[in-house]
Amino acid sequence: MRTVSTEHKRVDIRRNDTVKVITGRDKGKEGRVLRVFPNDAKLLVEHVMMVKKHVRPNPQRNIKGGIAEQESPISISNVMLLCVSCNRPVRVGHEMHGDHHVRVCKRCGATLEK
Ligand SMILES: [Zn+2]
Repeated sequence: MRTVSTEHKRVDIRRNDTVKVITGRDKGKEGRVLRVFPNDAKLLVEHVMMVKKHVRPNPQRNIKGGIAEQESPISISNVMLLCVSCNRPVRVGHEMHGDHHVRVCKRCGATLEK
């Protein structure tokens, strides 16, 4: 059994899931989850919440100076998991398939595991 170390909210989104931003600055964007921060209830989503970062040139490491863009974490409550069957953001349900816990689309019932 998996041990639960904290009483934080359960996170239904995992790395490599595709999510849709439902509210906030990047509303409507879709992207792949790069990282999950369960303790902060935040996600890093590819091409979402891009921030500009000023980079100082470092010739020894062949880094050019200028402005680089990178993702910043977005609150899990601002995104929903995208169901590949429905092709829309859905709520996540839970089922046991034998010994395996799987996440399912509450709308169409398709499994959300890859
Ligand atoms: Zn679905």
